[in-house]
Amino acid sequence: MKAELLLTNAKIRTMDTSRPLAQSLAVLNGRIVAIGDNHELANLAGPDTIVLDLKEKTVLPAFIDAHEHLSWFSESSLTLNCSPQKVNSIKKLLSLVKWETDIARPGEWIRGVLYDDTKMSENRFLNRRDLDIAAPNNPVIVIHVSGHWAVVNSAALKLGELNRHSVNPRGGALGRDTSTGSLDGVLLEMAMFDFAFESLATKPTIVPPFPRMIRKKAAIEAAKELNRSGISGVSDALCPPSYITTYHDLMIAKELPLRVNIIIPYIFLNHLENLGLIGGWGNEWVRSAGIKIIVDGAIAGHTSALKDGHEDDPDDHGILLIEDQLELDQVVQRIHNMNYQACIHANGDLAIEMSLNAIEQAQQKRPGLTPRHRIEHCTMITDNILKRMHQLNVMALPFASYLWQHGEKLKPFYGQRAHRMFAHNSFLNAGVRVAASSDHPVGLQSPLLGLQCMVTRQASTGEIIRPQEKISIDEAFKMYTAYAAYATGEETIKGTLSLGKLADMVVLNRDPWSIPPEEISQIGVVNTIVDGKIVYAHEE
Ligand SMILES: [Zn+2]
Repeated sequence: MKAELLLTNAKIRTMDTSRPLAQSLAVLNGRIVAIGDNHELANLAGPDTIVLDLKEKTVLPAFIDAHEHLSWFSESSLTLNCSPQKVNSIKKLLSLVKWETDIARPGEWIRGVLYDDTKMSENRFLNRRDLDIAAPNNPVIVIHVSGHWAVVNSAALKLGELNRHSVNPRGGALGRDTSTGSLDGVLLEMAMFDFAFESLATKPTIVPPFPRMIRKKAAIEAAKELNRSGISGVSDALCPPSYITTYHDLMIAKELPLRVNIIIPYIFLNHLENLGLIGGWGNEWVRSAGIKIIVDGAIAGHTSALKDGHEDDPDDHGILLIEDQLELDQVVQRIHNMNYQACIHANGDLAIEMSLNAIEQAQQKRPGLTPRHRIEHCTMITDNILKRMHQLNVMALPFASYLWQHGEKLKPFYGQRAHRMFAHNSFLNAGVRVAASSDHPVGLQSPLLGLQCMVTRQASTGEIIRPQEKISIDEAFKMYTAYAAYATGEETIKGTLSLGKLADMVVLNRDPWSIPPEEISQIGVVNTIVDGKIVYAHEE
């Protein structure tokens, strides 16, 4: 037997306790076929073998981001970036829209994202009249940075058959001019989701998905960007149907540079039920993991559902997107019965408890089924929540680097409760399974930054927040590798460098175990290897 890829002279940290360290590793047909010392594996090099002499560099299982929005990230290159870093006035935003409109085909949609009204120098909201001047004929949508509202122009409203006589949809609103009652172009919550968000719409959206070929190209570029950070796999945490197709297209064409677990919005659950397609379909490249339910809002957006109100506004308990426990119970039961993982977005303690109630019921009714249900983010915990999660065997998917990003900014919202957030060590101590995730592009993407943050608990401002939640480097790396594989039920094929497992590896220019933990995020990724192929090589 000759290997297709042979790593030699490396410091290989396998994360497999049966053989934690090695110098050399051989790959054949995308799988690890030998691990050992340099001399033990030397005879596996043949004339066609790619030999990487790594000169003592560190090799680890490649990173798996258990909650990332790859489809959303893919489209960021196809839309106008209206973030405050690029656009600080309505005037500038409109000039971008006009520039794009001038080169667009008749009727082509102009799409902007990341608009932040609080950062506009004019100190007022963007409205449809502004957009009409910049784009009199092409439909335009500009989505707010929160992802919860948008502004559209008159051409877009016309396509959506929305006018002054239209009524607000359930769970949403159409912005209106208070003096005349005419629409001002603002679409709030469900009004925007139905208009533009395939994953959350209750009917076909007015803004169409990007064409299939364009999605394919954009997804490759986005996936390559993740490869640069050492990532070999993600869970796409809210995968719209158009991207299930895209990932499948890329898999068939053998062009997918990482592995994708798709988490399907629950509004499509009835299709899966009708097809009788139970959870776990697909293969090691594209595989169905779970079904996504969103129970509450965002932790940094003051909209998480809380048992006790917000510190700065005790009457404000946040937002429940599913208010009725019975409704949540029924959805989770259906997911459980189909043997999908329920991937429940819940940030606040109220939302987490409701999710646990629903999971408990589902497990009691069908104890024979054991899909690994997950609480996505699982931010605000209590001792009782930890105890129940352990008893019910529910996984936690906390943000890896939100603490770096937000630091003590969350304290005015939540008071002392802020100190129980992103509680990696509490989960471990309570025996709760936990995997790392970025929530990128909402959160920062870099796994090495996430690792540093989990180990140091240091915010970008330098302050250390609740140091008792620090975890060891070993545990932190497991959360981005072995535990992340467990989070999709794939721990037998990936997550450690073991014989027979997928050859997904990252080569680092420094050993994280031998440097000060505050420097982990500065480590360079030298190579990312997926399925035994080098998908990223750092250019010296
Ligand atoms: Zn998310």
